[in-house]
Amino acid sequence: MADGAPAVPFLDLVSQQAEVADEVLAAWERLLRAAHFVGGPDVAAFEREFAAYIGVEHVVGVANGTDALELAYRALGIQAGDEVILPVNTFIATAEAVTAVGATPVFVDVDDETLLIDPAAAESAITERTRAIVPVHLFGQTAPVEALAPLAARRGIAIVEDAAQSQGAVSAAGRAGALGTIAATSFYPGKNLGAAGDAGAVMTDDAARYADLLAASPGVRLPGTRSGNRDVWHLYVVRVEERDRVLADLAAAGVGAAIHYPTPLHLTDAYAGLGYRRGQFPVAERAAARILSLPMFPHLTRAQQERVASVLTAATSRSRSHG
Ligand SMILES: *Cc1c(COP(=O)(O)O)cnc(C)c1O
Repeated sequence: MADGAPAVPFLDLVSQQAEVADEVLAAWERLLRAAHFVGGPDVAAFEREFAAYIGVEHVVGVANGTDALELAYRALGIQAGDEVILPVNTFIATAEAVTAVGATPVFVDVDDETLLIDPAAAESAITERTRAIVPVHLFGQTAPVEALAPLAARRGIAIVEDAAQSQGAVSAAGRAGALGTIAATSFYPGKNLGAAGDAGAVMTDDAARYADLLAASPGVRLPGTRSGNRDVWHLYVVRVEERDRVLADLAAAGVGAAIHYPTPLHLTDAYAGLGYRRGQFPVAERAAARILSLPMFPHLTRAQQERVASVLTAATSRSRSHG
């Protein structure tokens, strides 16, 4: 690090683990002694508690978020010949699960402010083969399910929420996972629930801090939050010009950052066969070249965030002065 400041990791799972280590080890020993390796009373208790928290009747634990999506599509009877509408700005698992059941993902663009699915684009992509629309509650806030639900209901189309990044996120209509027909979530270690049990409030504080620290940095476009939403900040995604150079500057200064996601689904090799062209989803394509995810996790300190903000401000003012 040029100036000797301590590095800021993108994610710090070690601190998160340390906070709950004693409790987890005690539970792990109980579980080993009872040989409850798959399912068992602890899983059942978690399913009940999580259902109560989200505000739904039933929760069933499965192996991962991708399986959860696939099983949701299967539960709806979605199969070969059916179409499922989803945004191109998402983790590819949203589409892979559609492919896994033999159906065809139909891609649509995202809203320029929030980078969440654009409801108007989704509406115009509906055909007589459409069986489901997938609002992805990306980065930690809910997608506009309330705009999609009435038109989906009118046409007998299901709403499958991809809530992998938004446990606890709230919209004016309710909690992520309780807004559509069926919802899938992921407890991958870096996802919000893996982060810390009651981390929601802490993360909201941390997010407001980034907004304050970066308010006077004109080269940084802050994440847009839909009105009425409370974001749980799974990811803090800003947009900057000369993103790759800015990312390199951050790395050189020891600040962990990442890109979610570098390639909109229609431009991936995996889905080249669907025949979409560059230029078709201009908002997502423009955003893909500019997005930058800043460090965001429950143990992120104020000092670390101040460091991130000052390095980012310096890096982006360089890009402005160089045109
Ligand atoms: C992580 C993620 C998934 C898949 O979850 P896994 O547990 O990794 O299979 C699906 N959709 C989104 C938006 C995700 O972030």
